[in-house]
Amino acid sequence: MSEDMTFDVVVVGGGVAGLSGAMALGRSRRSVLVIDAGEPRNAPAAGVHAFLTRDGLPPAELVRLGRAEVESYGGRVRSGTAVAANYGEARGAESRQDFIHKLRVVFKELNETTIWVEVIALSSMLPTEITAPIVAENRELCRVFAASIKTARASMD
Ligand SMILES: Cc1cc2nc3c(=O)[nH]c(=O)nc-3n(C[C@H](O)[C@H](O)[C@H](O)COP(=O)(O)OP(=O)(O)OC[C@H]3O[C@@H](n4cnc5c(N)ncnc54)[C@H](O)[C@@H]3O)c2cc1C
Repeated sequence: MSEDMTFDVVVVGGGVAGLSGAMALGRSRRSVLVIDAGEPRNAPAAGVHAFLTRDGLPPAELVRLGRAEVESYGGRVRSGTAVAANYGEARGAESRQDFIHKLRVVFKELNETTIWVEVIALSSMLPTEITAPIVAENRELCRVFAASIKTARASMD
């Protein structure tokens, strides 16, 4: 993979808001990457309502069109979860219980990422020089967050 990994802006979250911002940036000749975990809020709805020209359109189709528009201006959209953003949410938690829950989301996503990167390595899609440091860093972060969860839980008892 020889993708240029340097961008003017990285947008975390490719729902309507993130894609709109990315599209505006792309139109302004900024290089932009959108990282999206693929769980838009309105996914369970049958169709978008009261959006001029798009009334009744399935939410997934709205996202697909949005992604295509971002890409038409050179933007890139990639699947992924930015755990740093999840950690930011944890720091703004409303209670200790909420803090623990949000840290567990970070832990879960890091674990999942580790598995997928290992799958990529095993299938030789990327050389181990690229995958091994990612796996090592993920494991280290998992240990950090496991310890934080343990400490937070202990302080609740
Ligand atoms: C059931 C339902 C029906 C709705 N119907 C309508 C309607 O008809 N008309 C209307 O105008 N509005 C509707 N809404 C409101 C509309 O869904 C929201 O206003 C809109 O989706 C908000 O867009 P957003 O981009 O801010 O967030 P979202 O659509 O929630 O998108 C956020 C994206 O960011 C991703 N993300 C979050 N954290 C991370 C991370 N750490 N790393 C990577 N990616 C991340 C998520 O997976 C998601 O894909 C509805 C909402 C619901 C729940």
